[in-house]
Amino acid sequence: MTSNELIKDFEKTFKAADRETQLKVFRALMQYQNIDGLDLAEILEQVLDQELDLENTETWSTKQSKIKVFIDKITPPNWNIYIKKEEFKYKPGTLNIKLEVFKNESDWNAEWDGEEDFVGRVKGPMCFYLNSEFMKNEPRVIEPIKKFRVGKIGKSHLQIFPDRETRELLNTLVHELAHIAADRWLAYKTKEYNKKWKKEWRCEIDSLSLRNENINHGPLFEKAFRLITIRKEKAFGKESDEKIWKKLEGLI
Ligand SMILES: [Zn+2]
Repeated sequence: MTSNELIKDFEKTFKAADRETQLKVFRALMQYQNIDGLDLAEILEQVLDQELDLENTETWSTKQSKIKVFIDKITPPNWNIYIKKEEFKYKPGTLNIKLEVFKNESDWNAEWDGEEDFVGRVKGPMCFYLNSEFMKNEPRVIEPIKKFRVGKIGKSHLQIFPDRETRELLNTLVHELAHIAADRWLAYKTKEYNKKWKKEWRCEIDSLSLRNENINHGPLFEKAFRLITIRKEKAFGKESDEKIWKKLEGLI
C-alpha cells in the first residue's frame, strides 16, 4: 500500500468507528509529532470539532459553575473567586478574583478588539485596598472589620471564553491562575504595597512593571505554574482533563 492508500484506508475505518474509538485513536495519534498527510489532519480536525460540539451542549451557566468550582478547588483558601458583587469578601488578606465567563463569541471578540484567538486572560492591574474604604457604601464590610480589623484586600479580574477551545480550558485556567499568583508575589515585593498605610492607602500594581516577568513567563511565573499544577493534582489526582471536567458536574 502507498501512504496515500494507507491514509484513505485509515479514513474509511476511522469514519466508520464509533465515537469512543475515534477519540481514542485521535488521542493516540496526537502523541506523535510527525504525522503528515493533509487528509488525516482534516479528519482529526473534524473529530475535534465534533468533540467540541458535544461539550458545547452544556449550558453556559453549568460551564460557569464548573469553572468556579475548579478554581476554588485548586487555589488557596484566602482566594475568593466571585461572580456576583455580593460574593466579594472584606476579610483582610483576601484576594478577590472576579470571574467573568463569556457567553457569546461576539462579546468576546469585542473585548479583544480583533486581537489573536485567546481563551482567557487576566485583565488589568491587581489592585489592593483597605477594607475600610468600602464603609460608606457597603454595610457588609462592618462585620469583618469588627471581627478581624482594618486591613488590605486585593482584587483581580479573570476573563474566560470557554467555547473557544473547550479541551484547553483547564490548562488555560491553570495558566491564568499562575499569572495571578505571580502578580501577587510581585505585588508583595513592591514599595508601593509595603508603604505604611493611613486612611487613604490604596495600591494598584501597574501591570507594566510586571510585564517582563509576565509576558516572558519568567521564573516566578514558572514557579507559580508548578504550584497551581500541584494543587490541581492534589485536588483531582492525575486524571485526564476530560475526566476532571466530568467530575466537576458532581461538585456544583
Ligand atoms: Zn500567559
